[in-house]
Amino acid sequence: MKIRIGLGSCGIAAGGRKIKNIFEKLLKESNKQIEIITTGCIGMCYLEPIVDIIDDNGTYTYANVSPSMAEEIFNEHILKGLPIEKYIVSTDKKPHPQLEKQVRIVLRNCGIINPESIEDYIEAGGYSALKKALSQMTPEEVIEEVKISGLRGRGGAGFPTWFKWNAARASKGNEKYIVCNADEGDPGAFMDRSVIEGDPHSLIEGMIIAAYAIGAHTGFVYVRAEYPLAIERLNIAIEQAKEKNLLGENILNSGFDFELKIKMGAGAFVCGEETALIASLEGERGMPRLKPPFPAQSGFFGKPTNINNVETYANVPWIIKNGGQEFAKYGTEKSKGTKVFALAGKIKRGGLIEVPMGMTLREVIYEIGGGIKEDKEFKAVQMGGPSGGCIPKELLDTPVDYESINSTGAIMGSGGMIVMDETTCMVDIARFFLDFTCKESCGKCIYCRIGTKRMLEILNNISEGKGTVEDLEILEELCYSVKDGSLCGLGQTAPNPVLTTLKYFKDEYLSHINDKK
Ligand code: SF4
Repeated sequence: MKIRIGLGSCGIAAGGRKIKNIFEKLLKESNKQIEIITTGCIGMCYLEPIVDIIDDNGTYTYANVSPSMAEEIFNEHILKGLPIEKYIVSTDKKPHPQLEKQVRIVLRNCGIINPESIEDYIEAGGYSALKKALSQMTPEEVIEEVKISGLRGRGGAGFPTWFKWNAARASKGNEKYIVCNADEGDPGAFMDRSVIEGDPHSLIEGMIIAAYAIGAHTGFVYVRAEYPLAIERLNIAIEQAKEKNLLGENILNSGFDFELKIKMGAGAFVCGEETALIASLEGERGMPRLKPPFPAQSGFFGKPTNINNVETYANVPWIIKNGGQEFAKYGTEKSKGTKVFALAGKIKRGGLIEVPMGMTLREVIYEIGGGIKEDKEFKAVQMGGPSGGCIPKELLDTPVDYESINSTGAIMGSGGMIVMDETTCMVDIARFFLDFTCKESCGKCIYCRIGTKRMLEILNNISEGKGTVEDLEILEELCYSVKDGSLCGLGQTAPNPVLTTLKYFKDEYLSHINDKK
């Protein structure tokens, strides 16, 4: 028998550590030798604290476990072998509906293994892809496999991963770098945090393989300081990998050297932009610069540098182990594989999910997410964070892939999905996101620095009943000016929430203007 307890940030916030202490105390008092495995988040954040009891008959999942429930579970299930049906939300034979339709590649180990144990990761097949890459494949073959997979960057832009790797490999010079962008800054997004907290070795393994492919010997994980648990677990994982000769000199006697460092970011949203991130890594103020040159040619201290986000790297070990073609079996023609989303807002089953590209928004929200809280009406889903847009009810059958989401005016982004119900004011939503980008603008470009401020003033006026119909025209014109006149993605996409709400919910703007409220 084993006890498995979810101790990601969500599990800890819900009281998971207290539940673990209770089980430890009860086991000690009863002199029972039962292993307690602590894991990251399985993705069902709204059900935390989650406790799995694994016995000879299978796995039983108990949700929202309170201290009194923990004692009951101990006395009945653990001591007497009698599962308590009323508390069980799923079993290995009857998976939870939130998990049933998911395809978990990136999240394959999250909520299953102990993220602080490299042995657990290795037992689950971890580092076999690295061994394969270093012993059986040339760097070019690794890049080719990633090309076959069709993997595109999961940080937002959706650029083909192999192309970036190839460009960095082809760049002249022996000193090259690999960087992981873990500066997750979108409000409502927590994919990177959960992956690092739940399975840090998958990121490390993916980064080592990528480094081998491009010819880099030093890597950095740029992670925001607001993620202390993720940083702690990543530090532990790096030390463990060093002890097993998976990091450092002559990795697995292959002759390949690679060291990995953590750089904590101070939480500036603009540092998610790769040139700003590089500036911050170099110790400069995080401000974007003109491209080209692209980081693949001139990145960290002018050296060729490859940047991908956590999810992109975490896909790589699975692709190398199972083959690019296996990965490409999932998804659509142009968007292969799966995508991790953070479901938040007015949704019943909030949490982290991974689905094959091409699944519709309706399936994601209703079948996996369980529908809208209190059975209210769905109004819109905000995708892509402050750079994204709001997709209305009429477009619920849009497939979740890069092209289809772009066609709505939103963007896939890094995977934030904020669901809104009938009570949400869409003008307030546009105002919230614009206020965010306005504050996060680095100030380099006039359109982004001043234009977003003027847009926000107009939105505030409309919200306060002081707006006019002419304001809407000026607002729209400003949107396009800010898009065209901004240097980086932050300014270029900042108007998206305003444009999509104007496109799909203009009546709400007009009612604010006409009702003067
Ligand atoms: Fe800075 Fe905005 Fe210009 Fe980007 S668009 S460089 S955030 S001012």
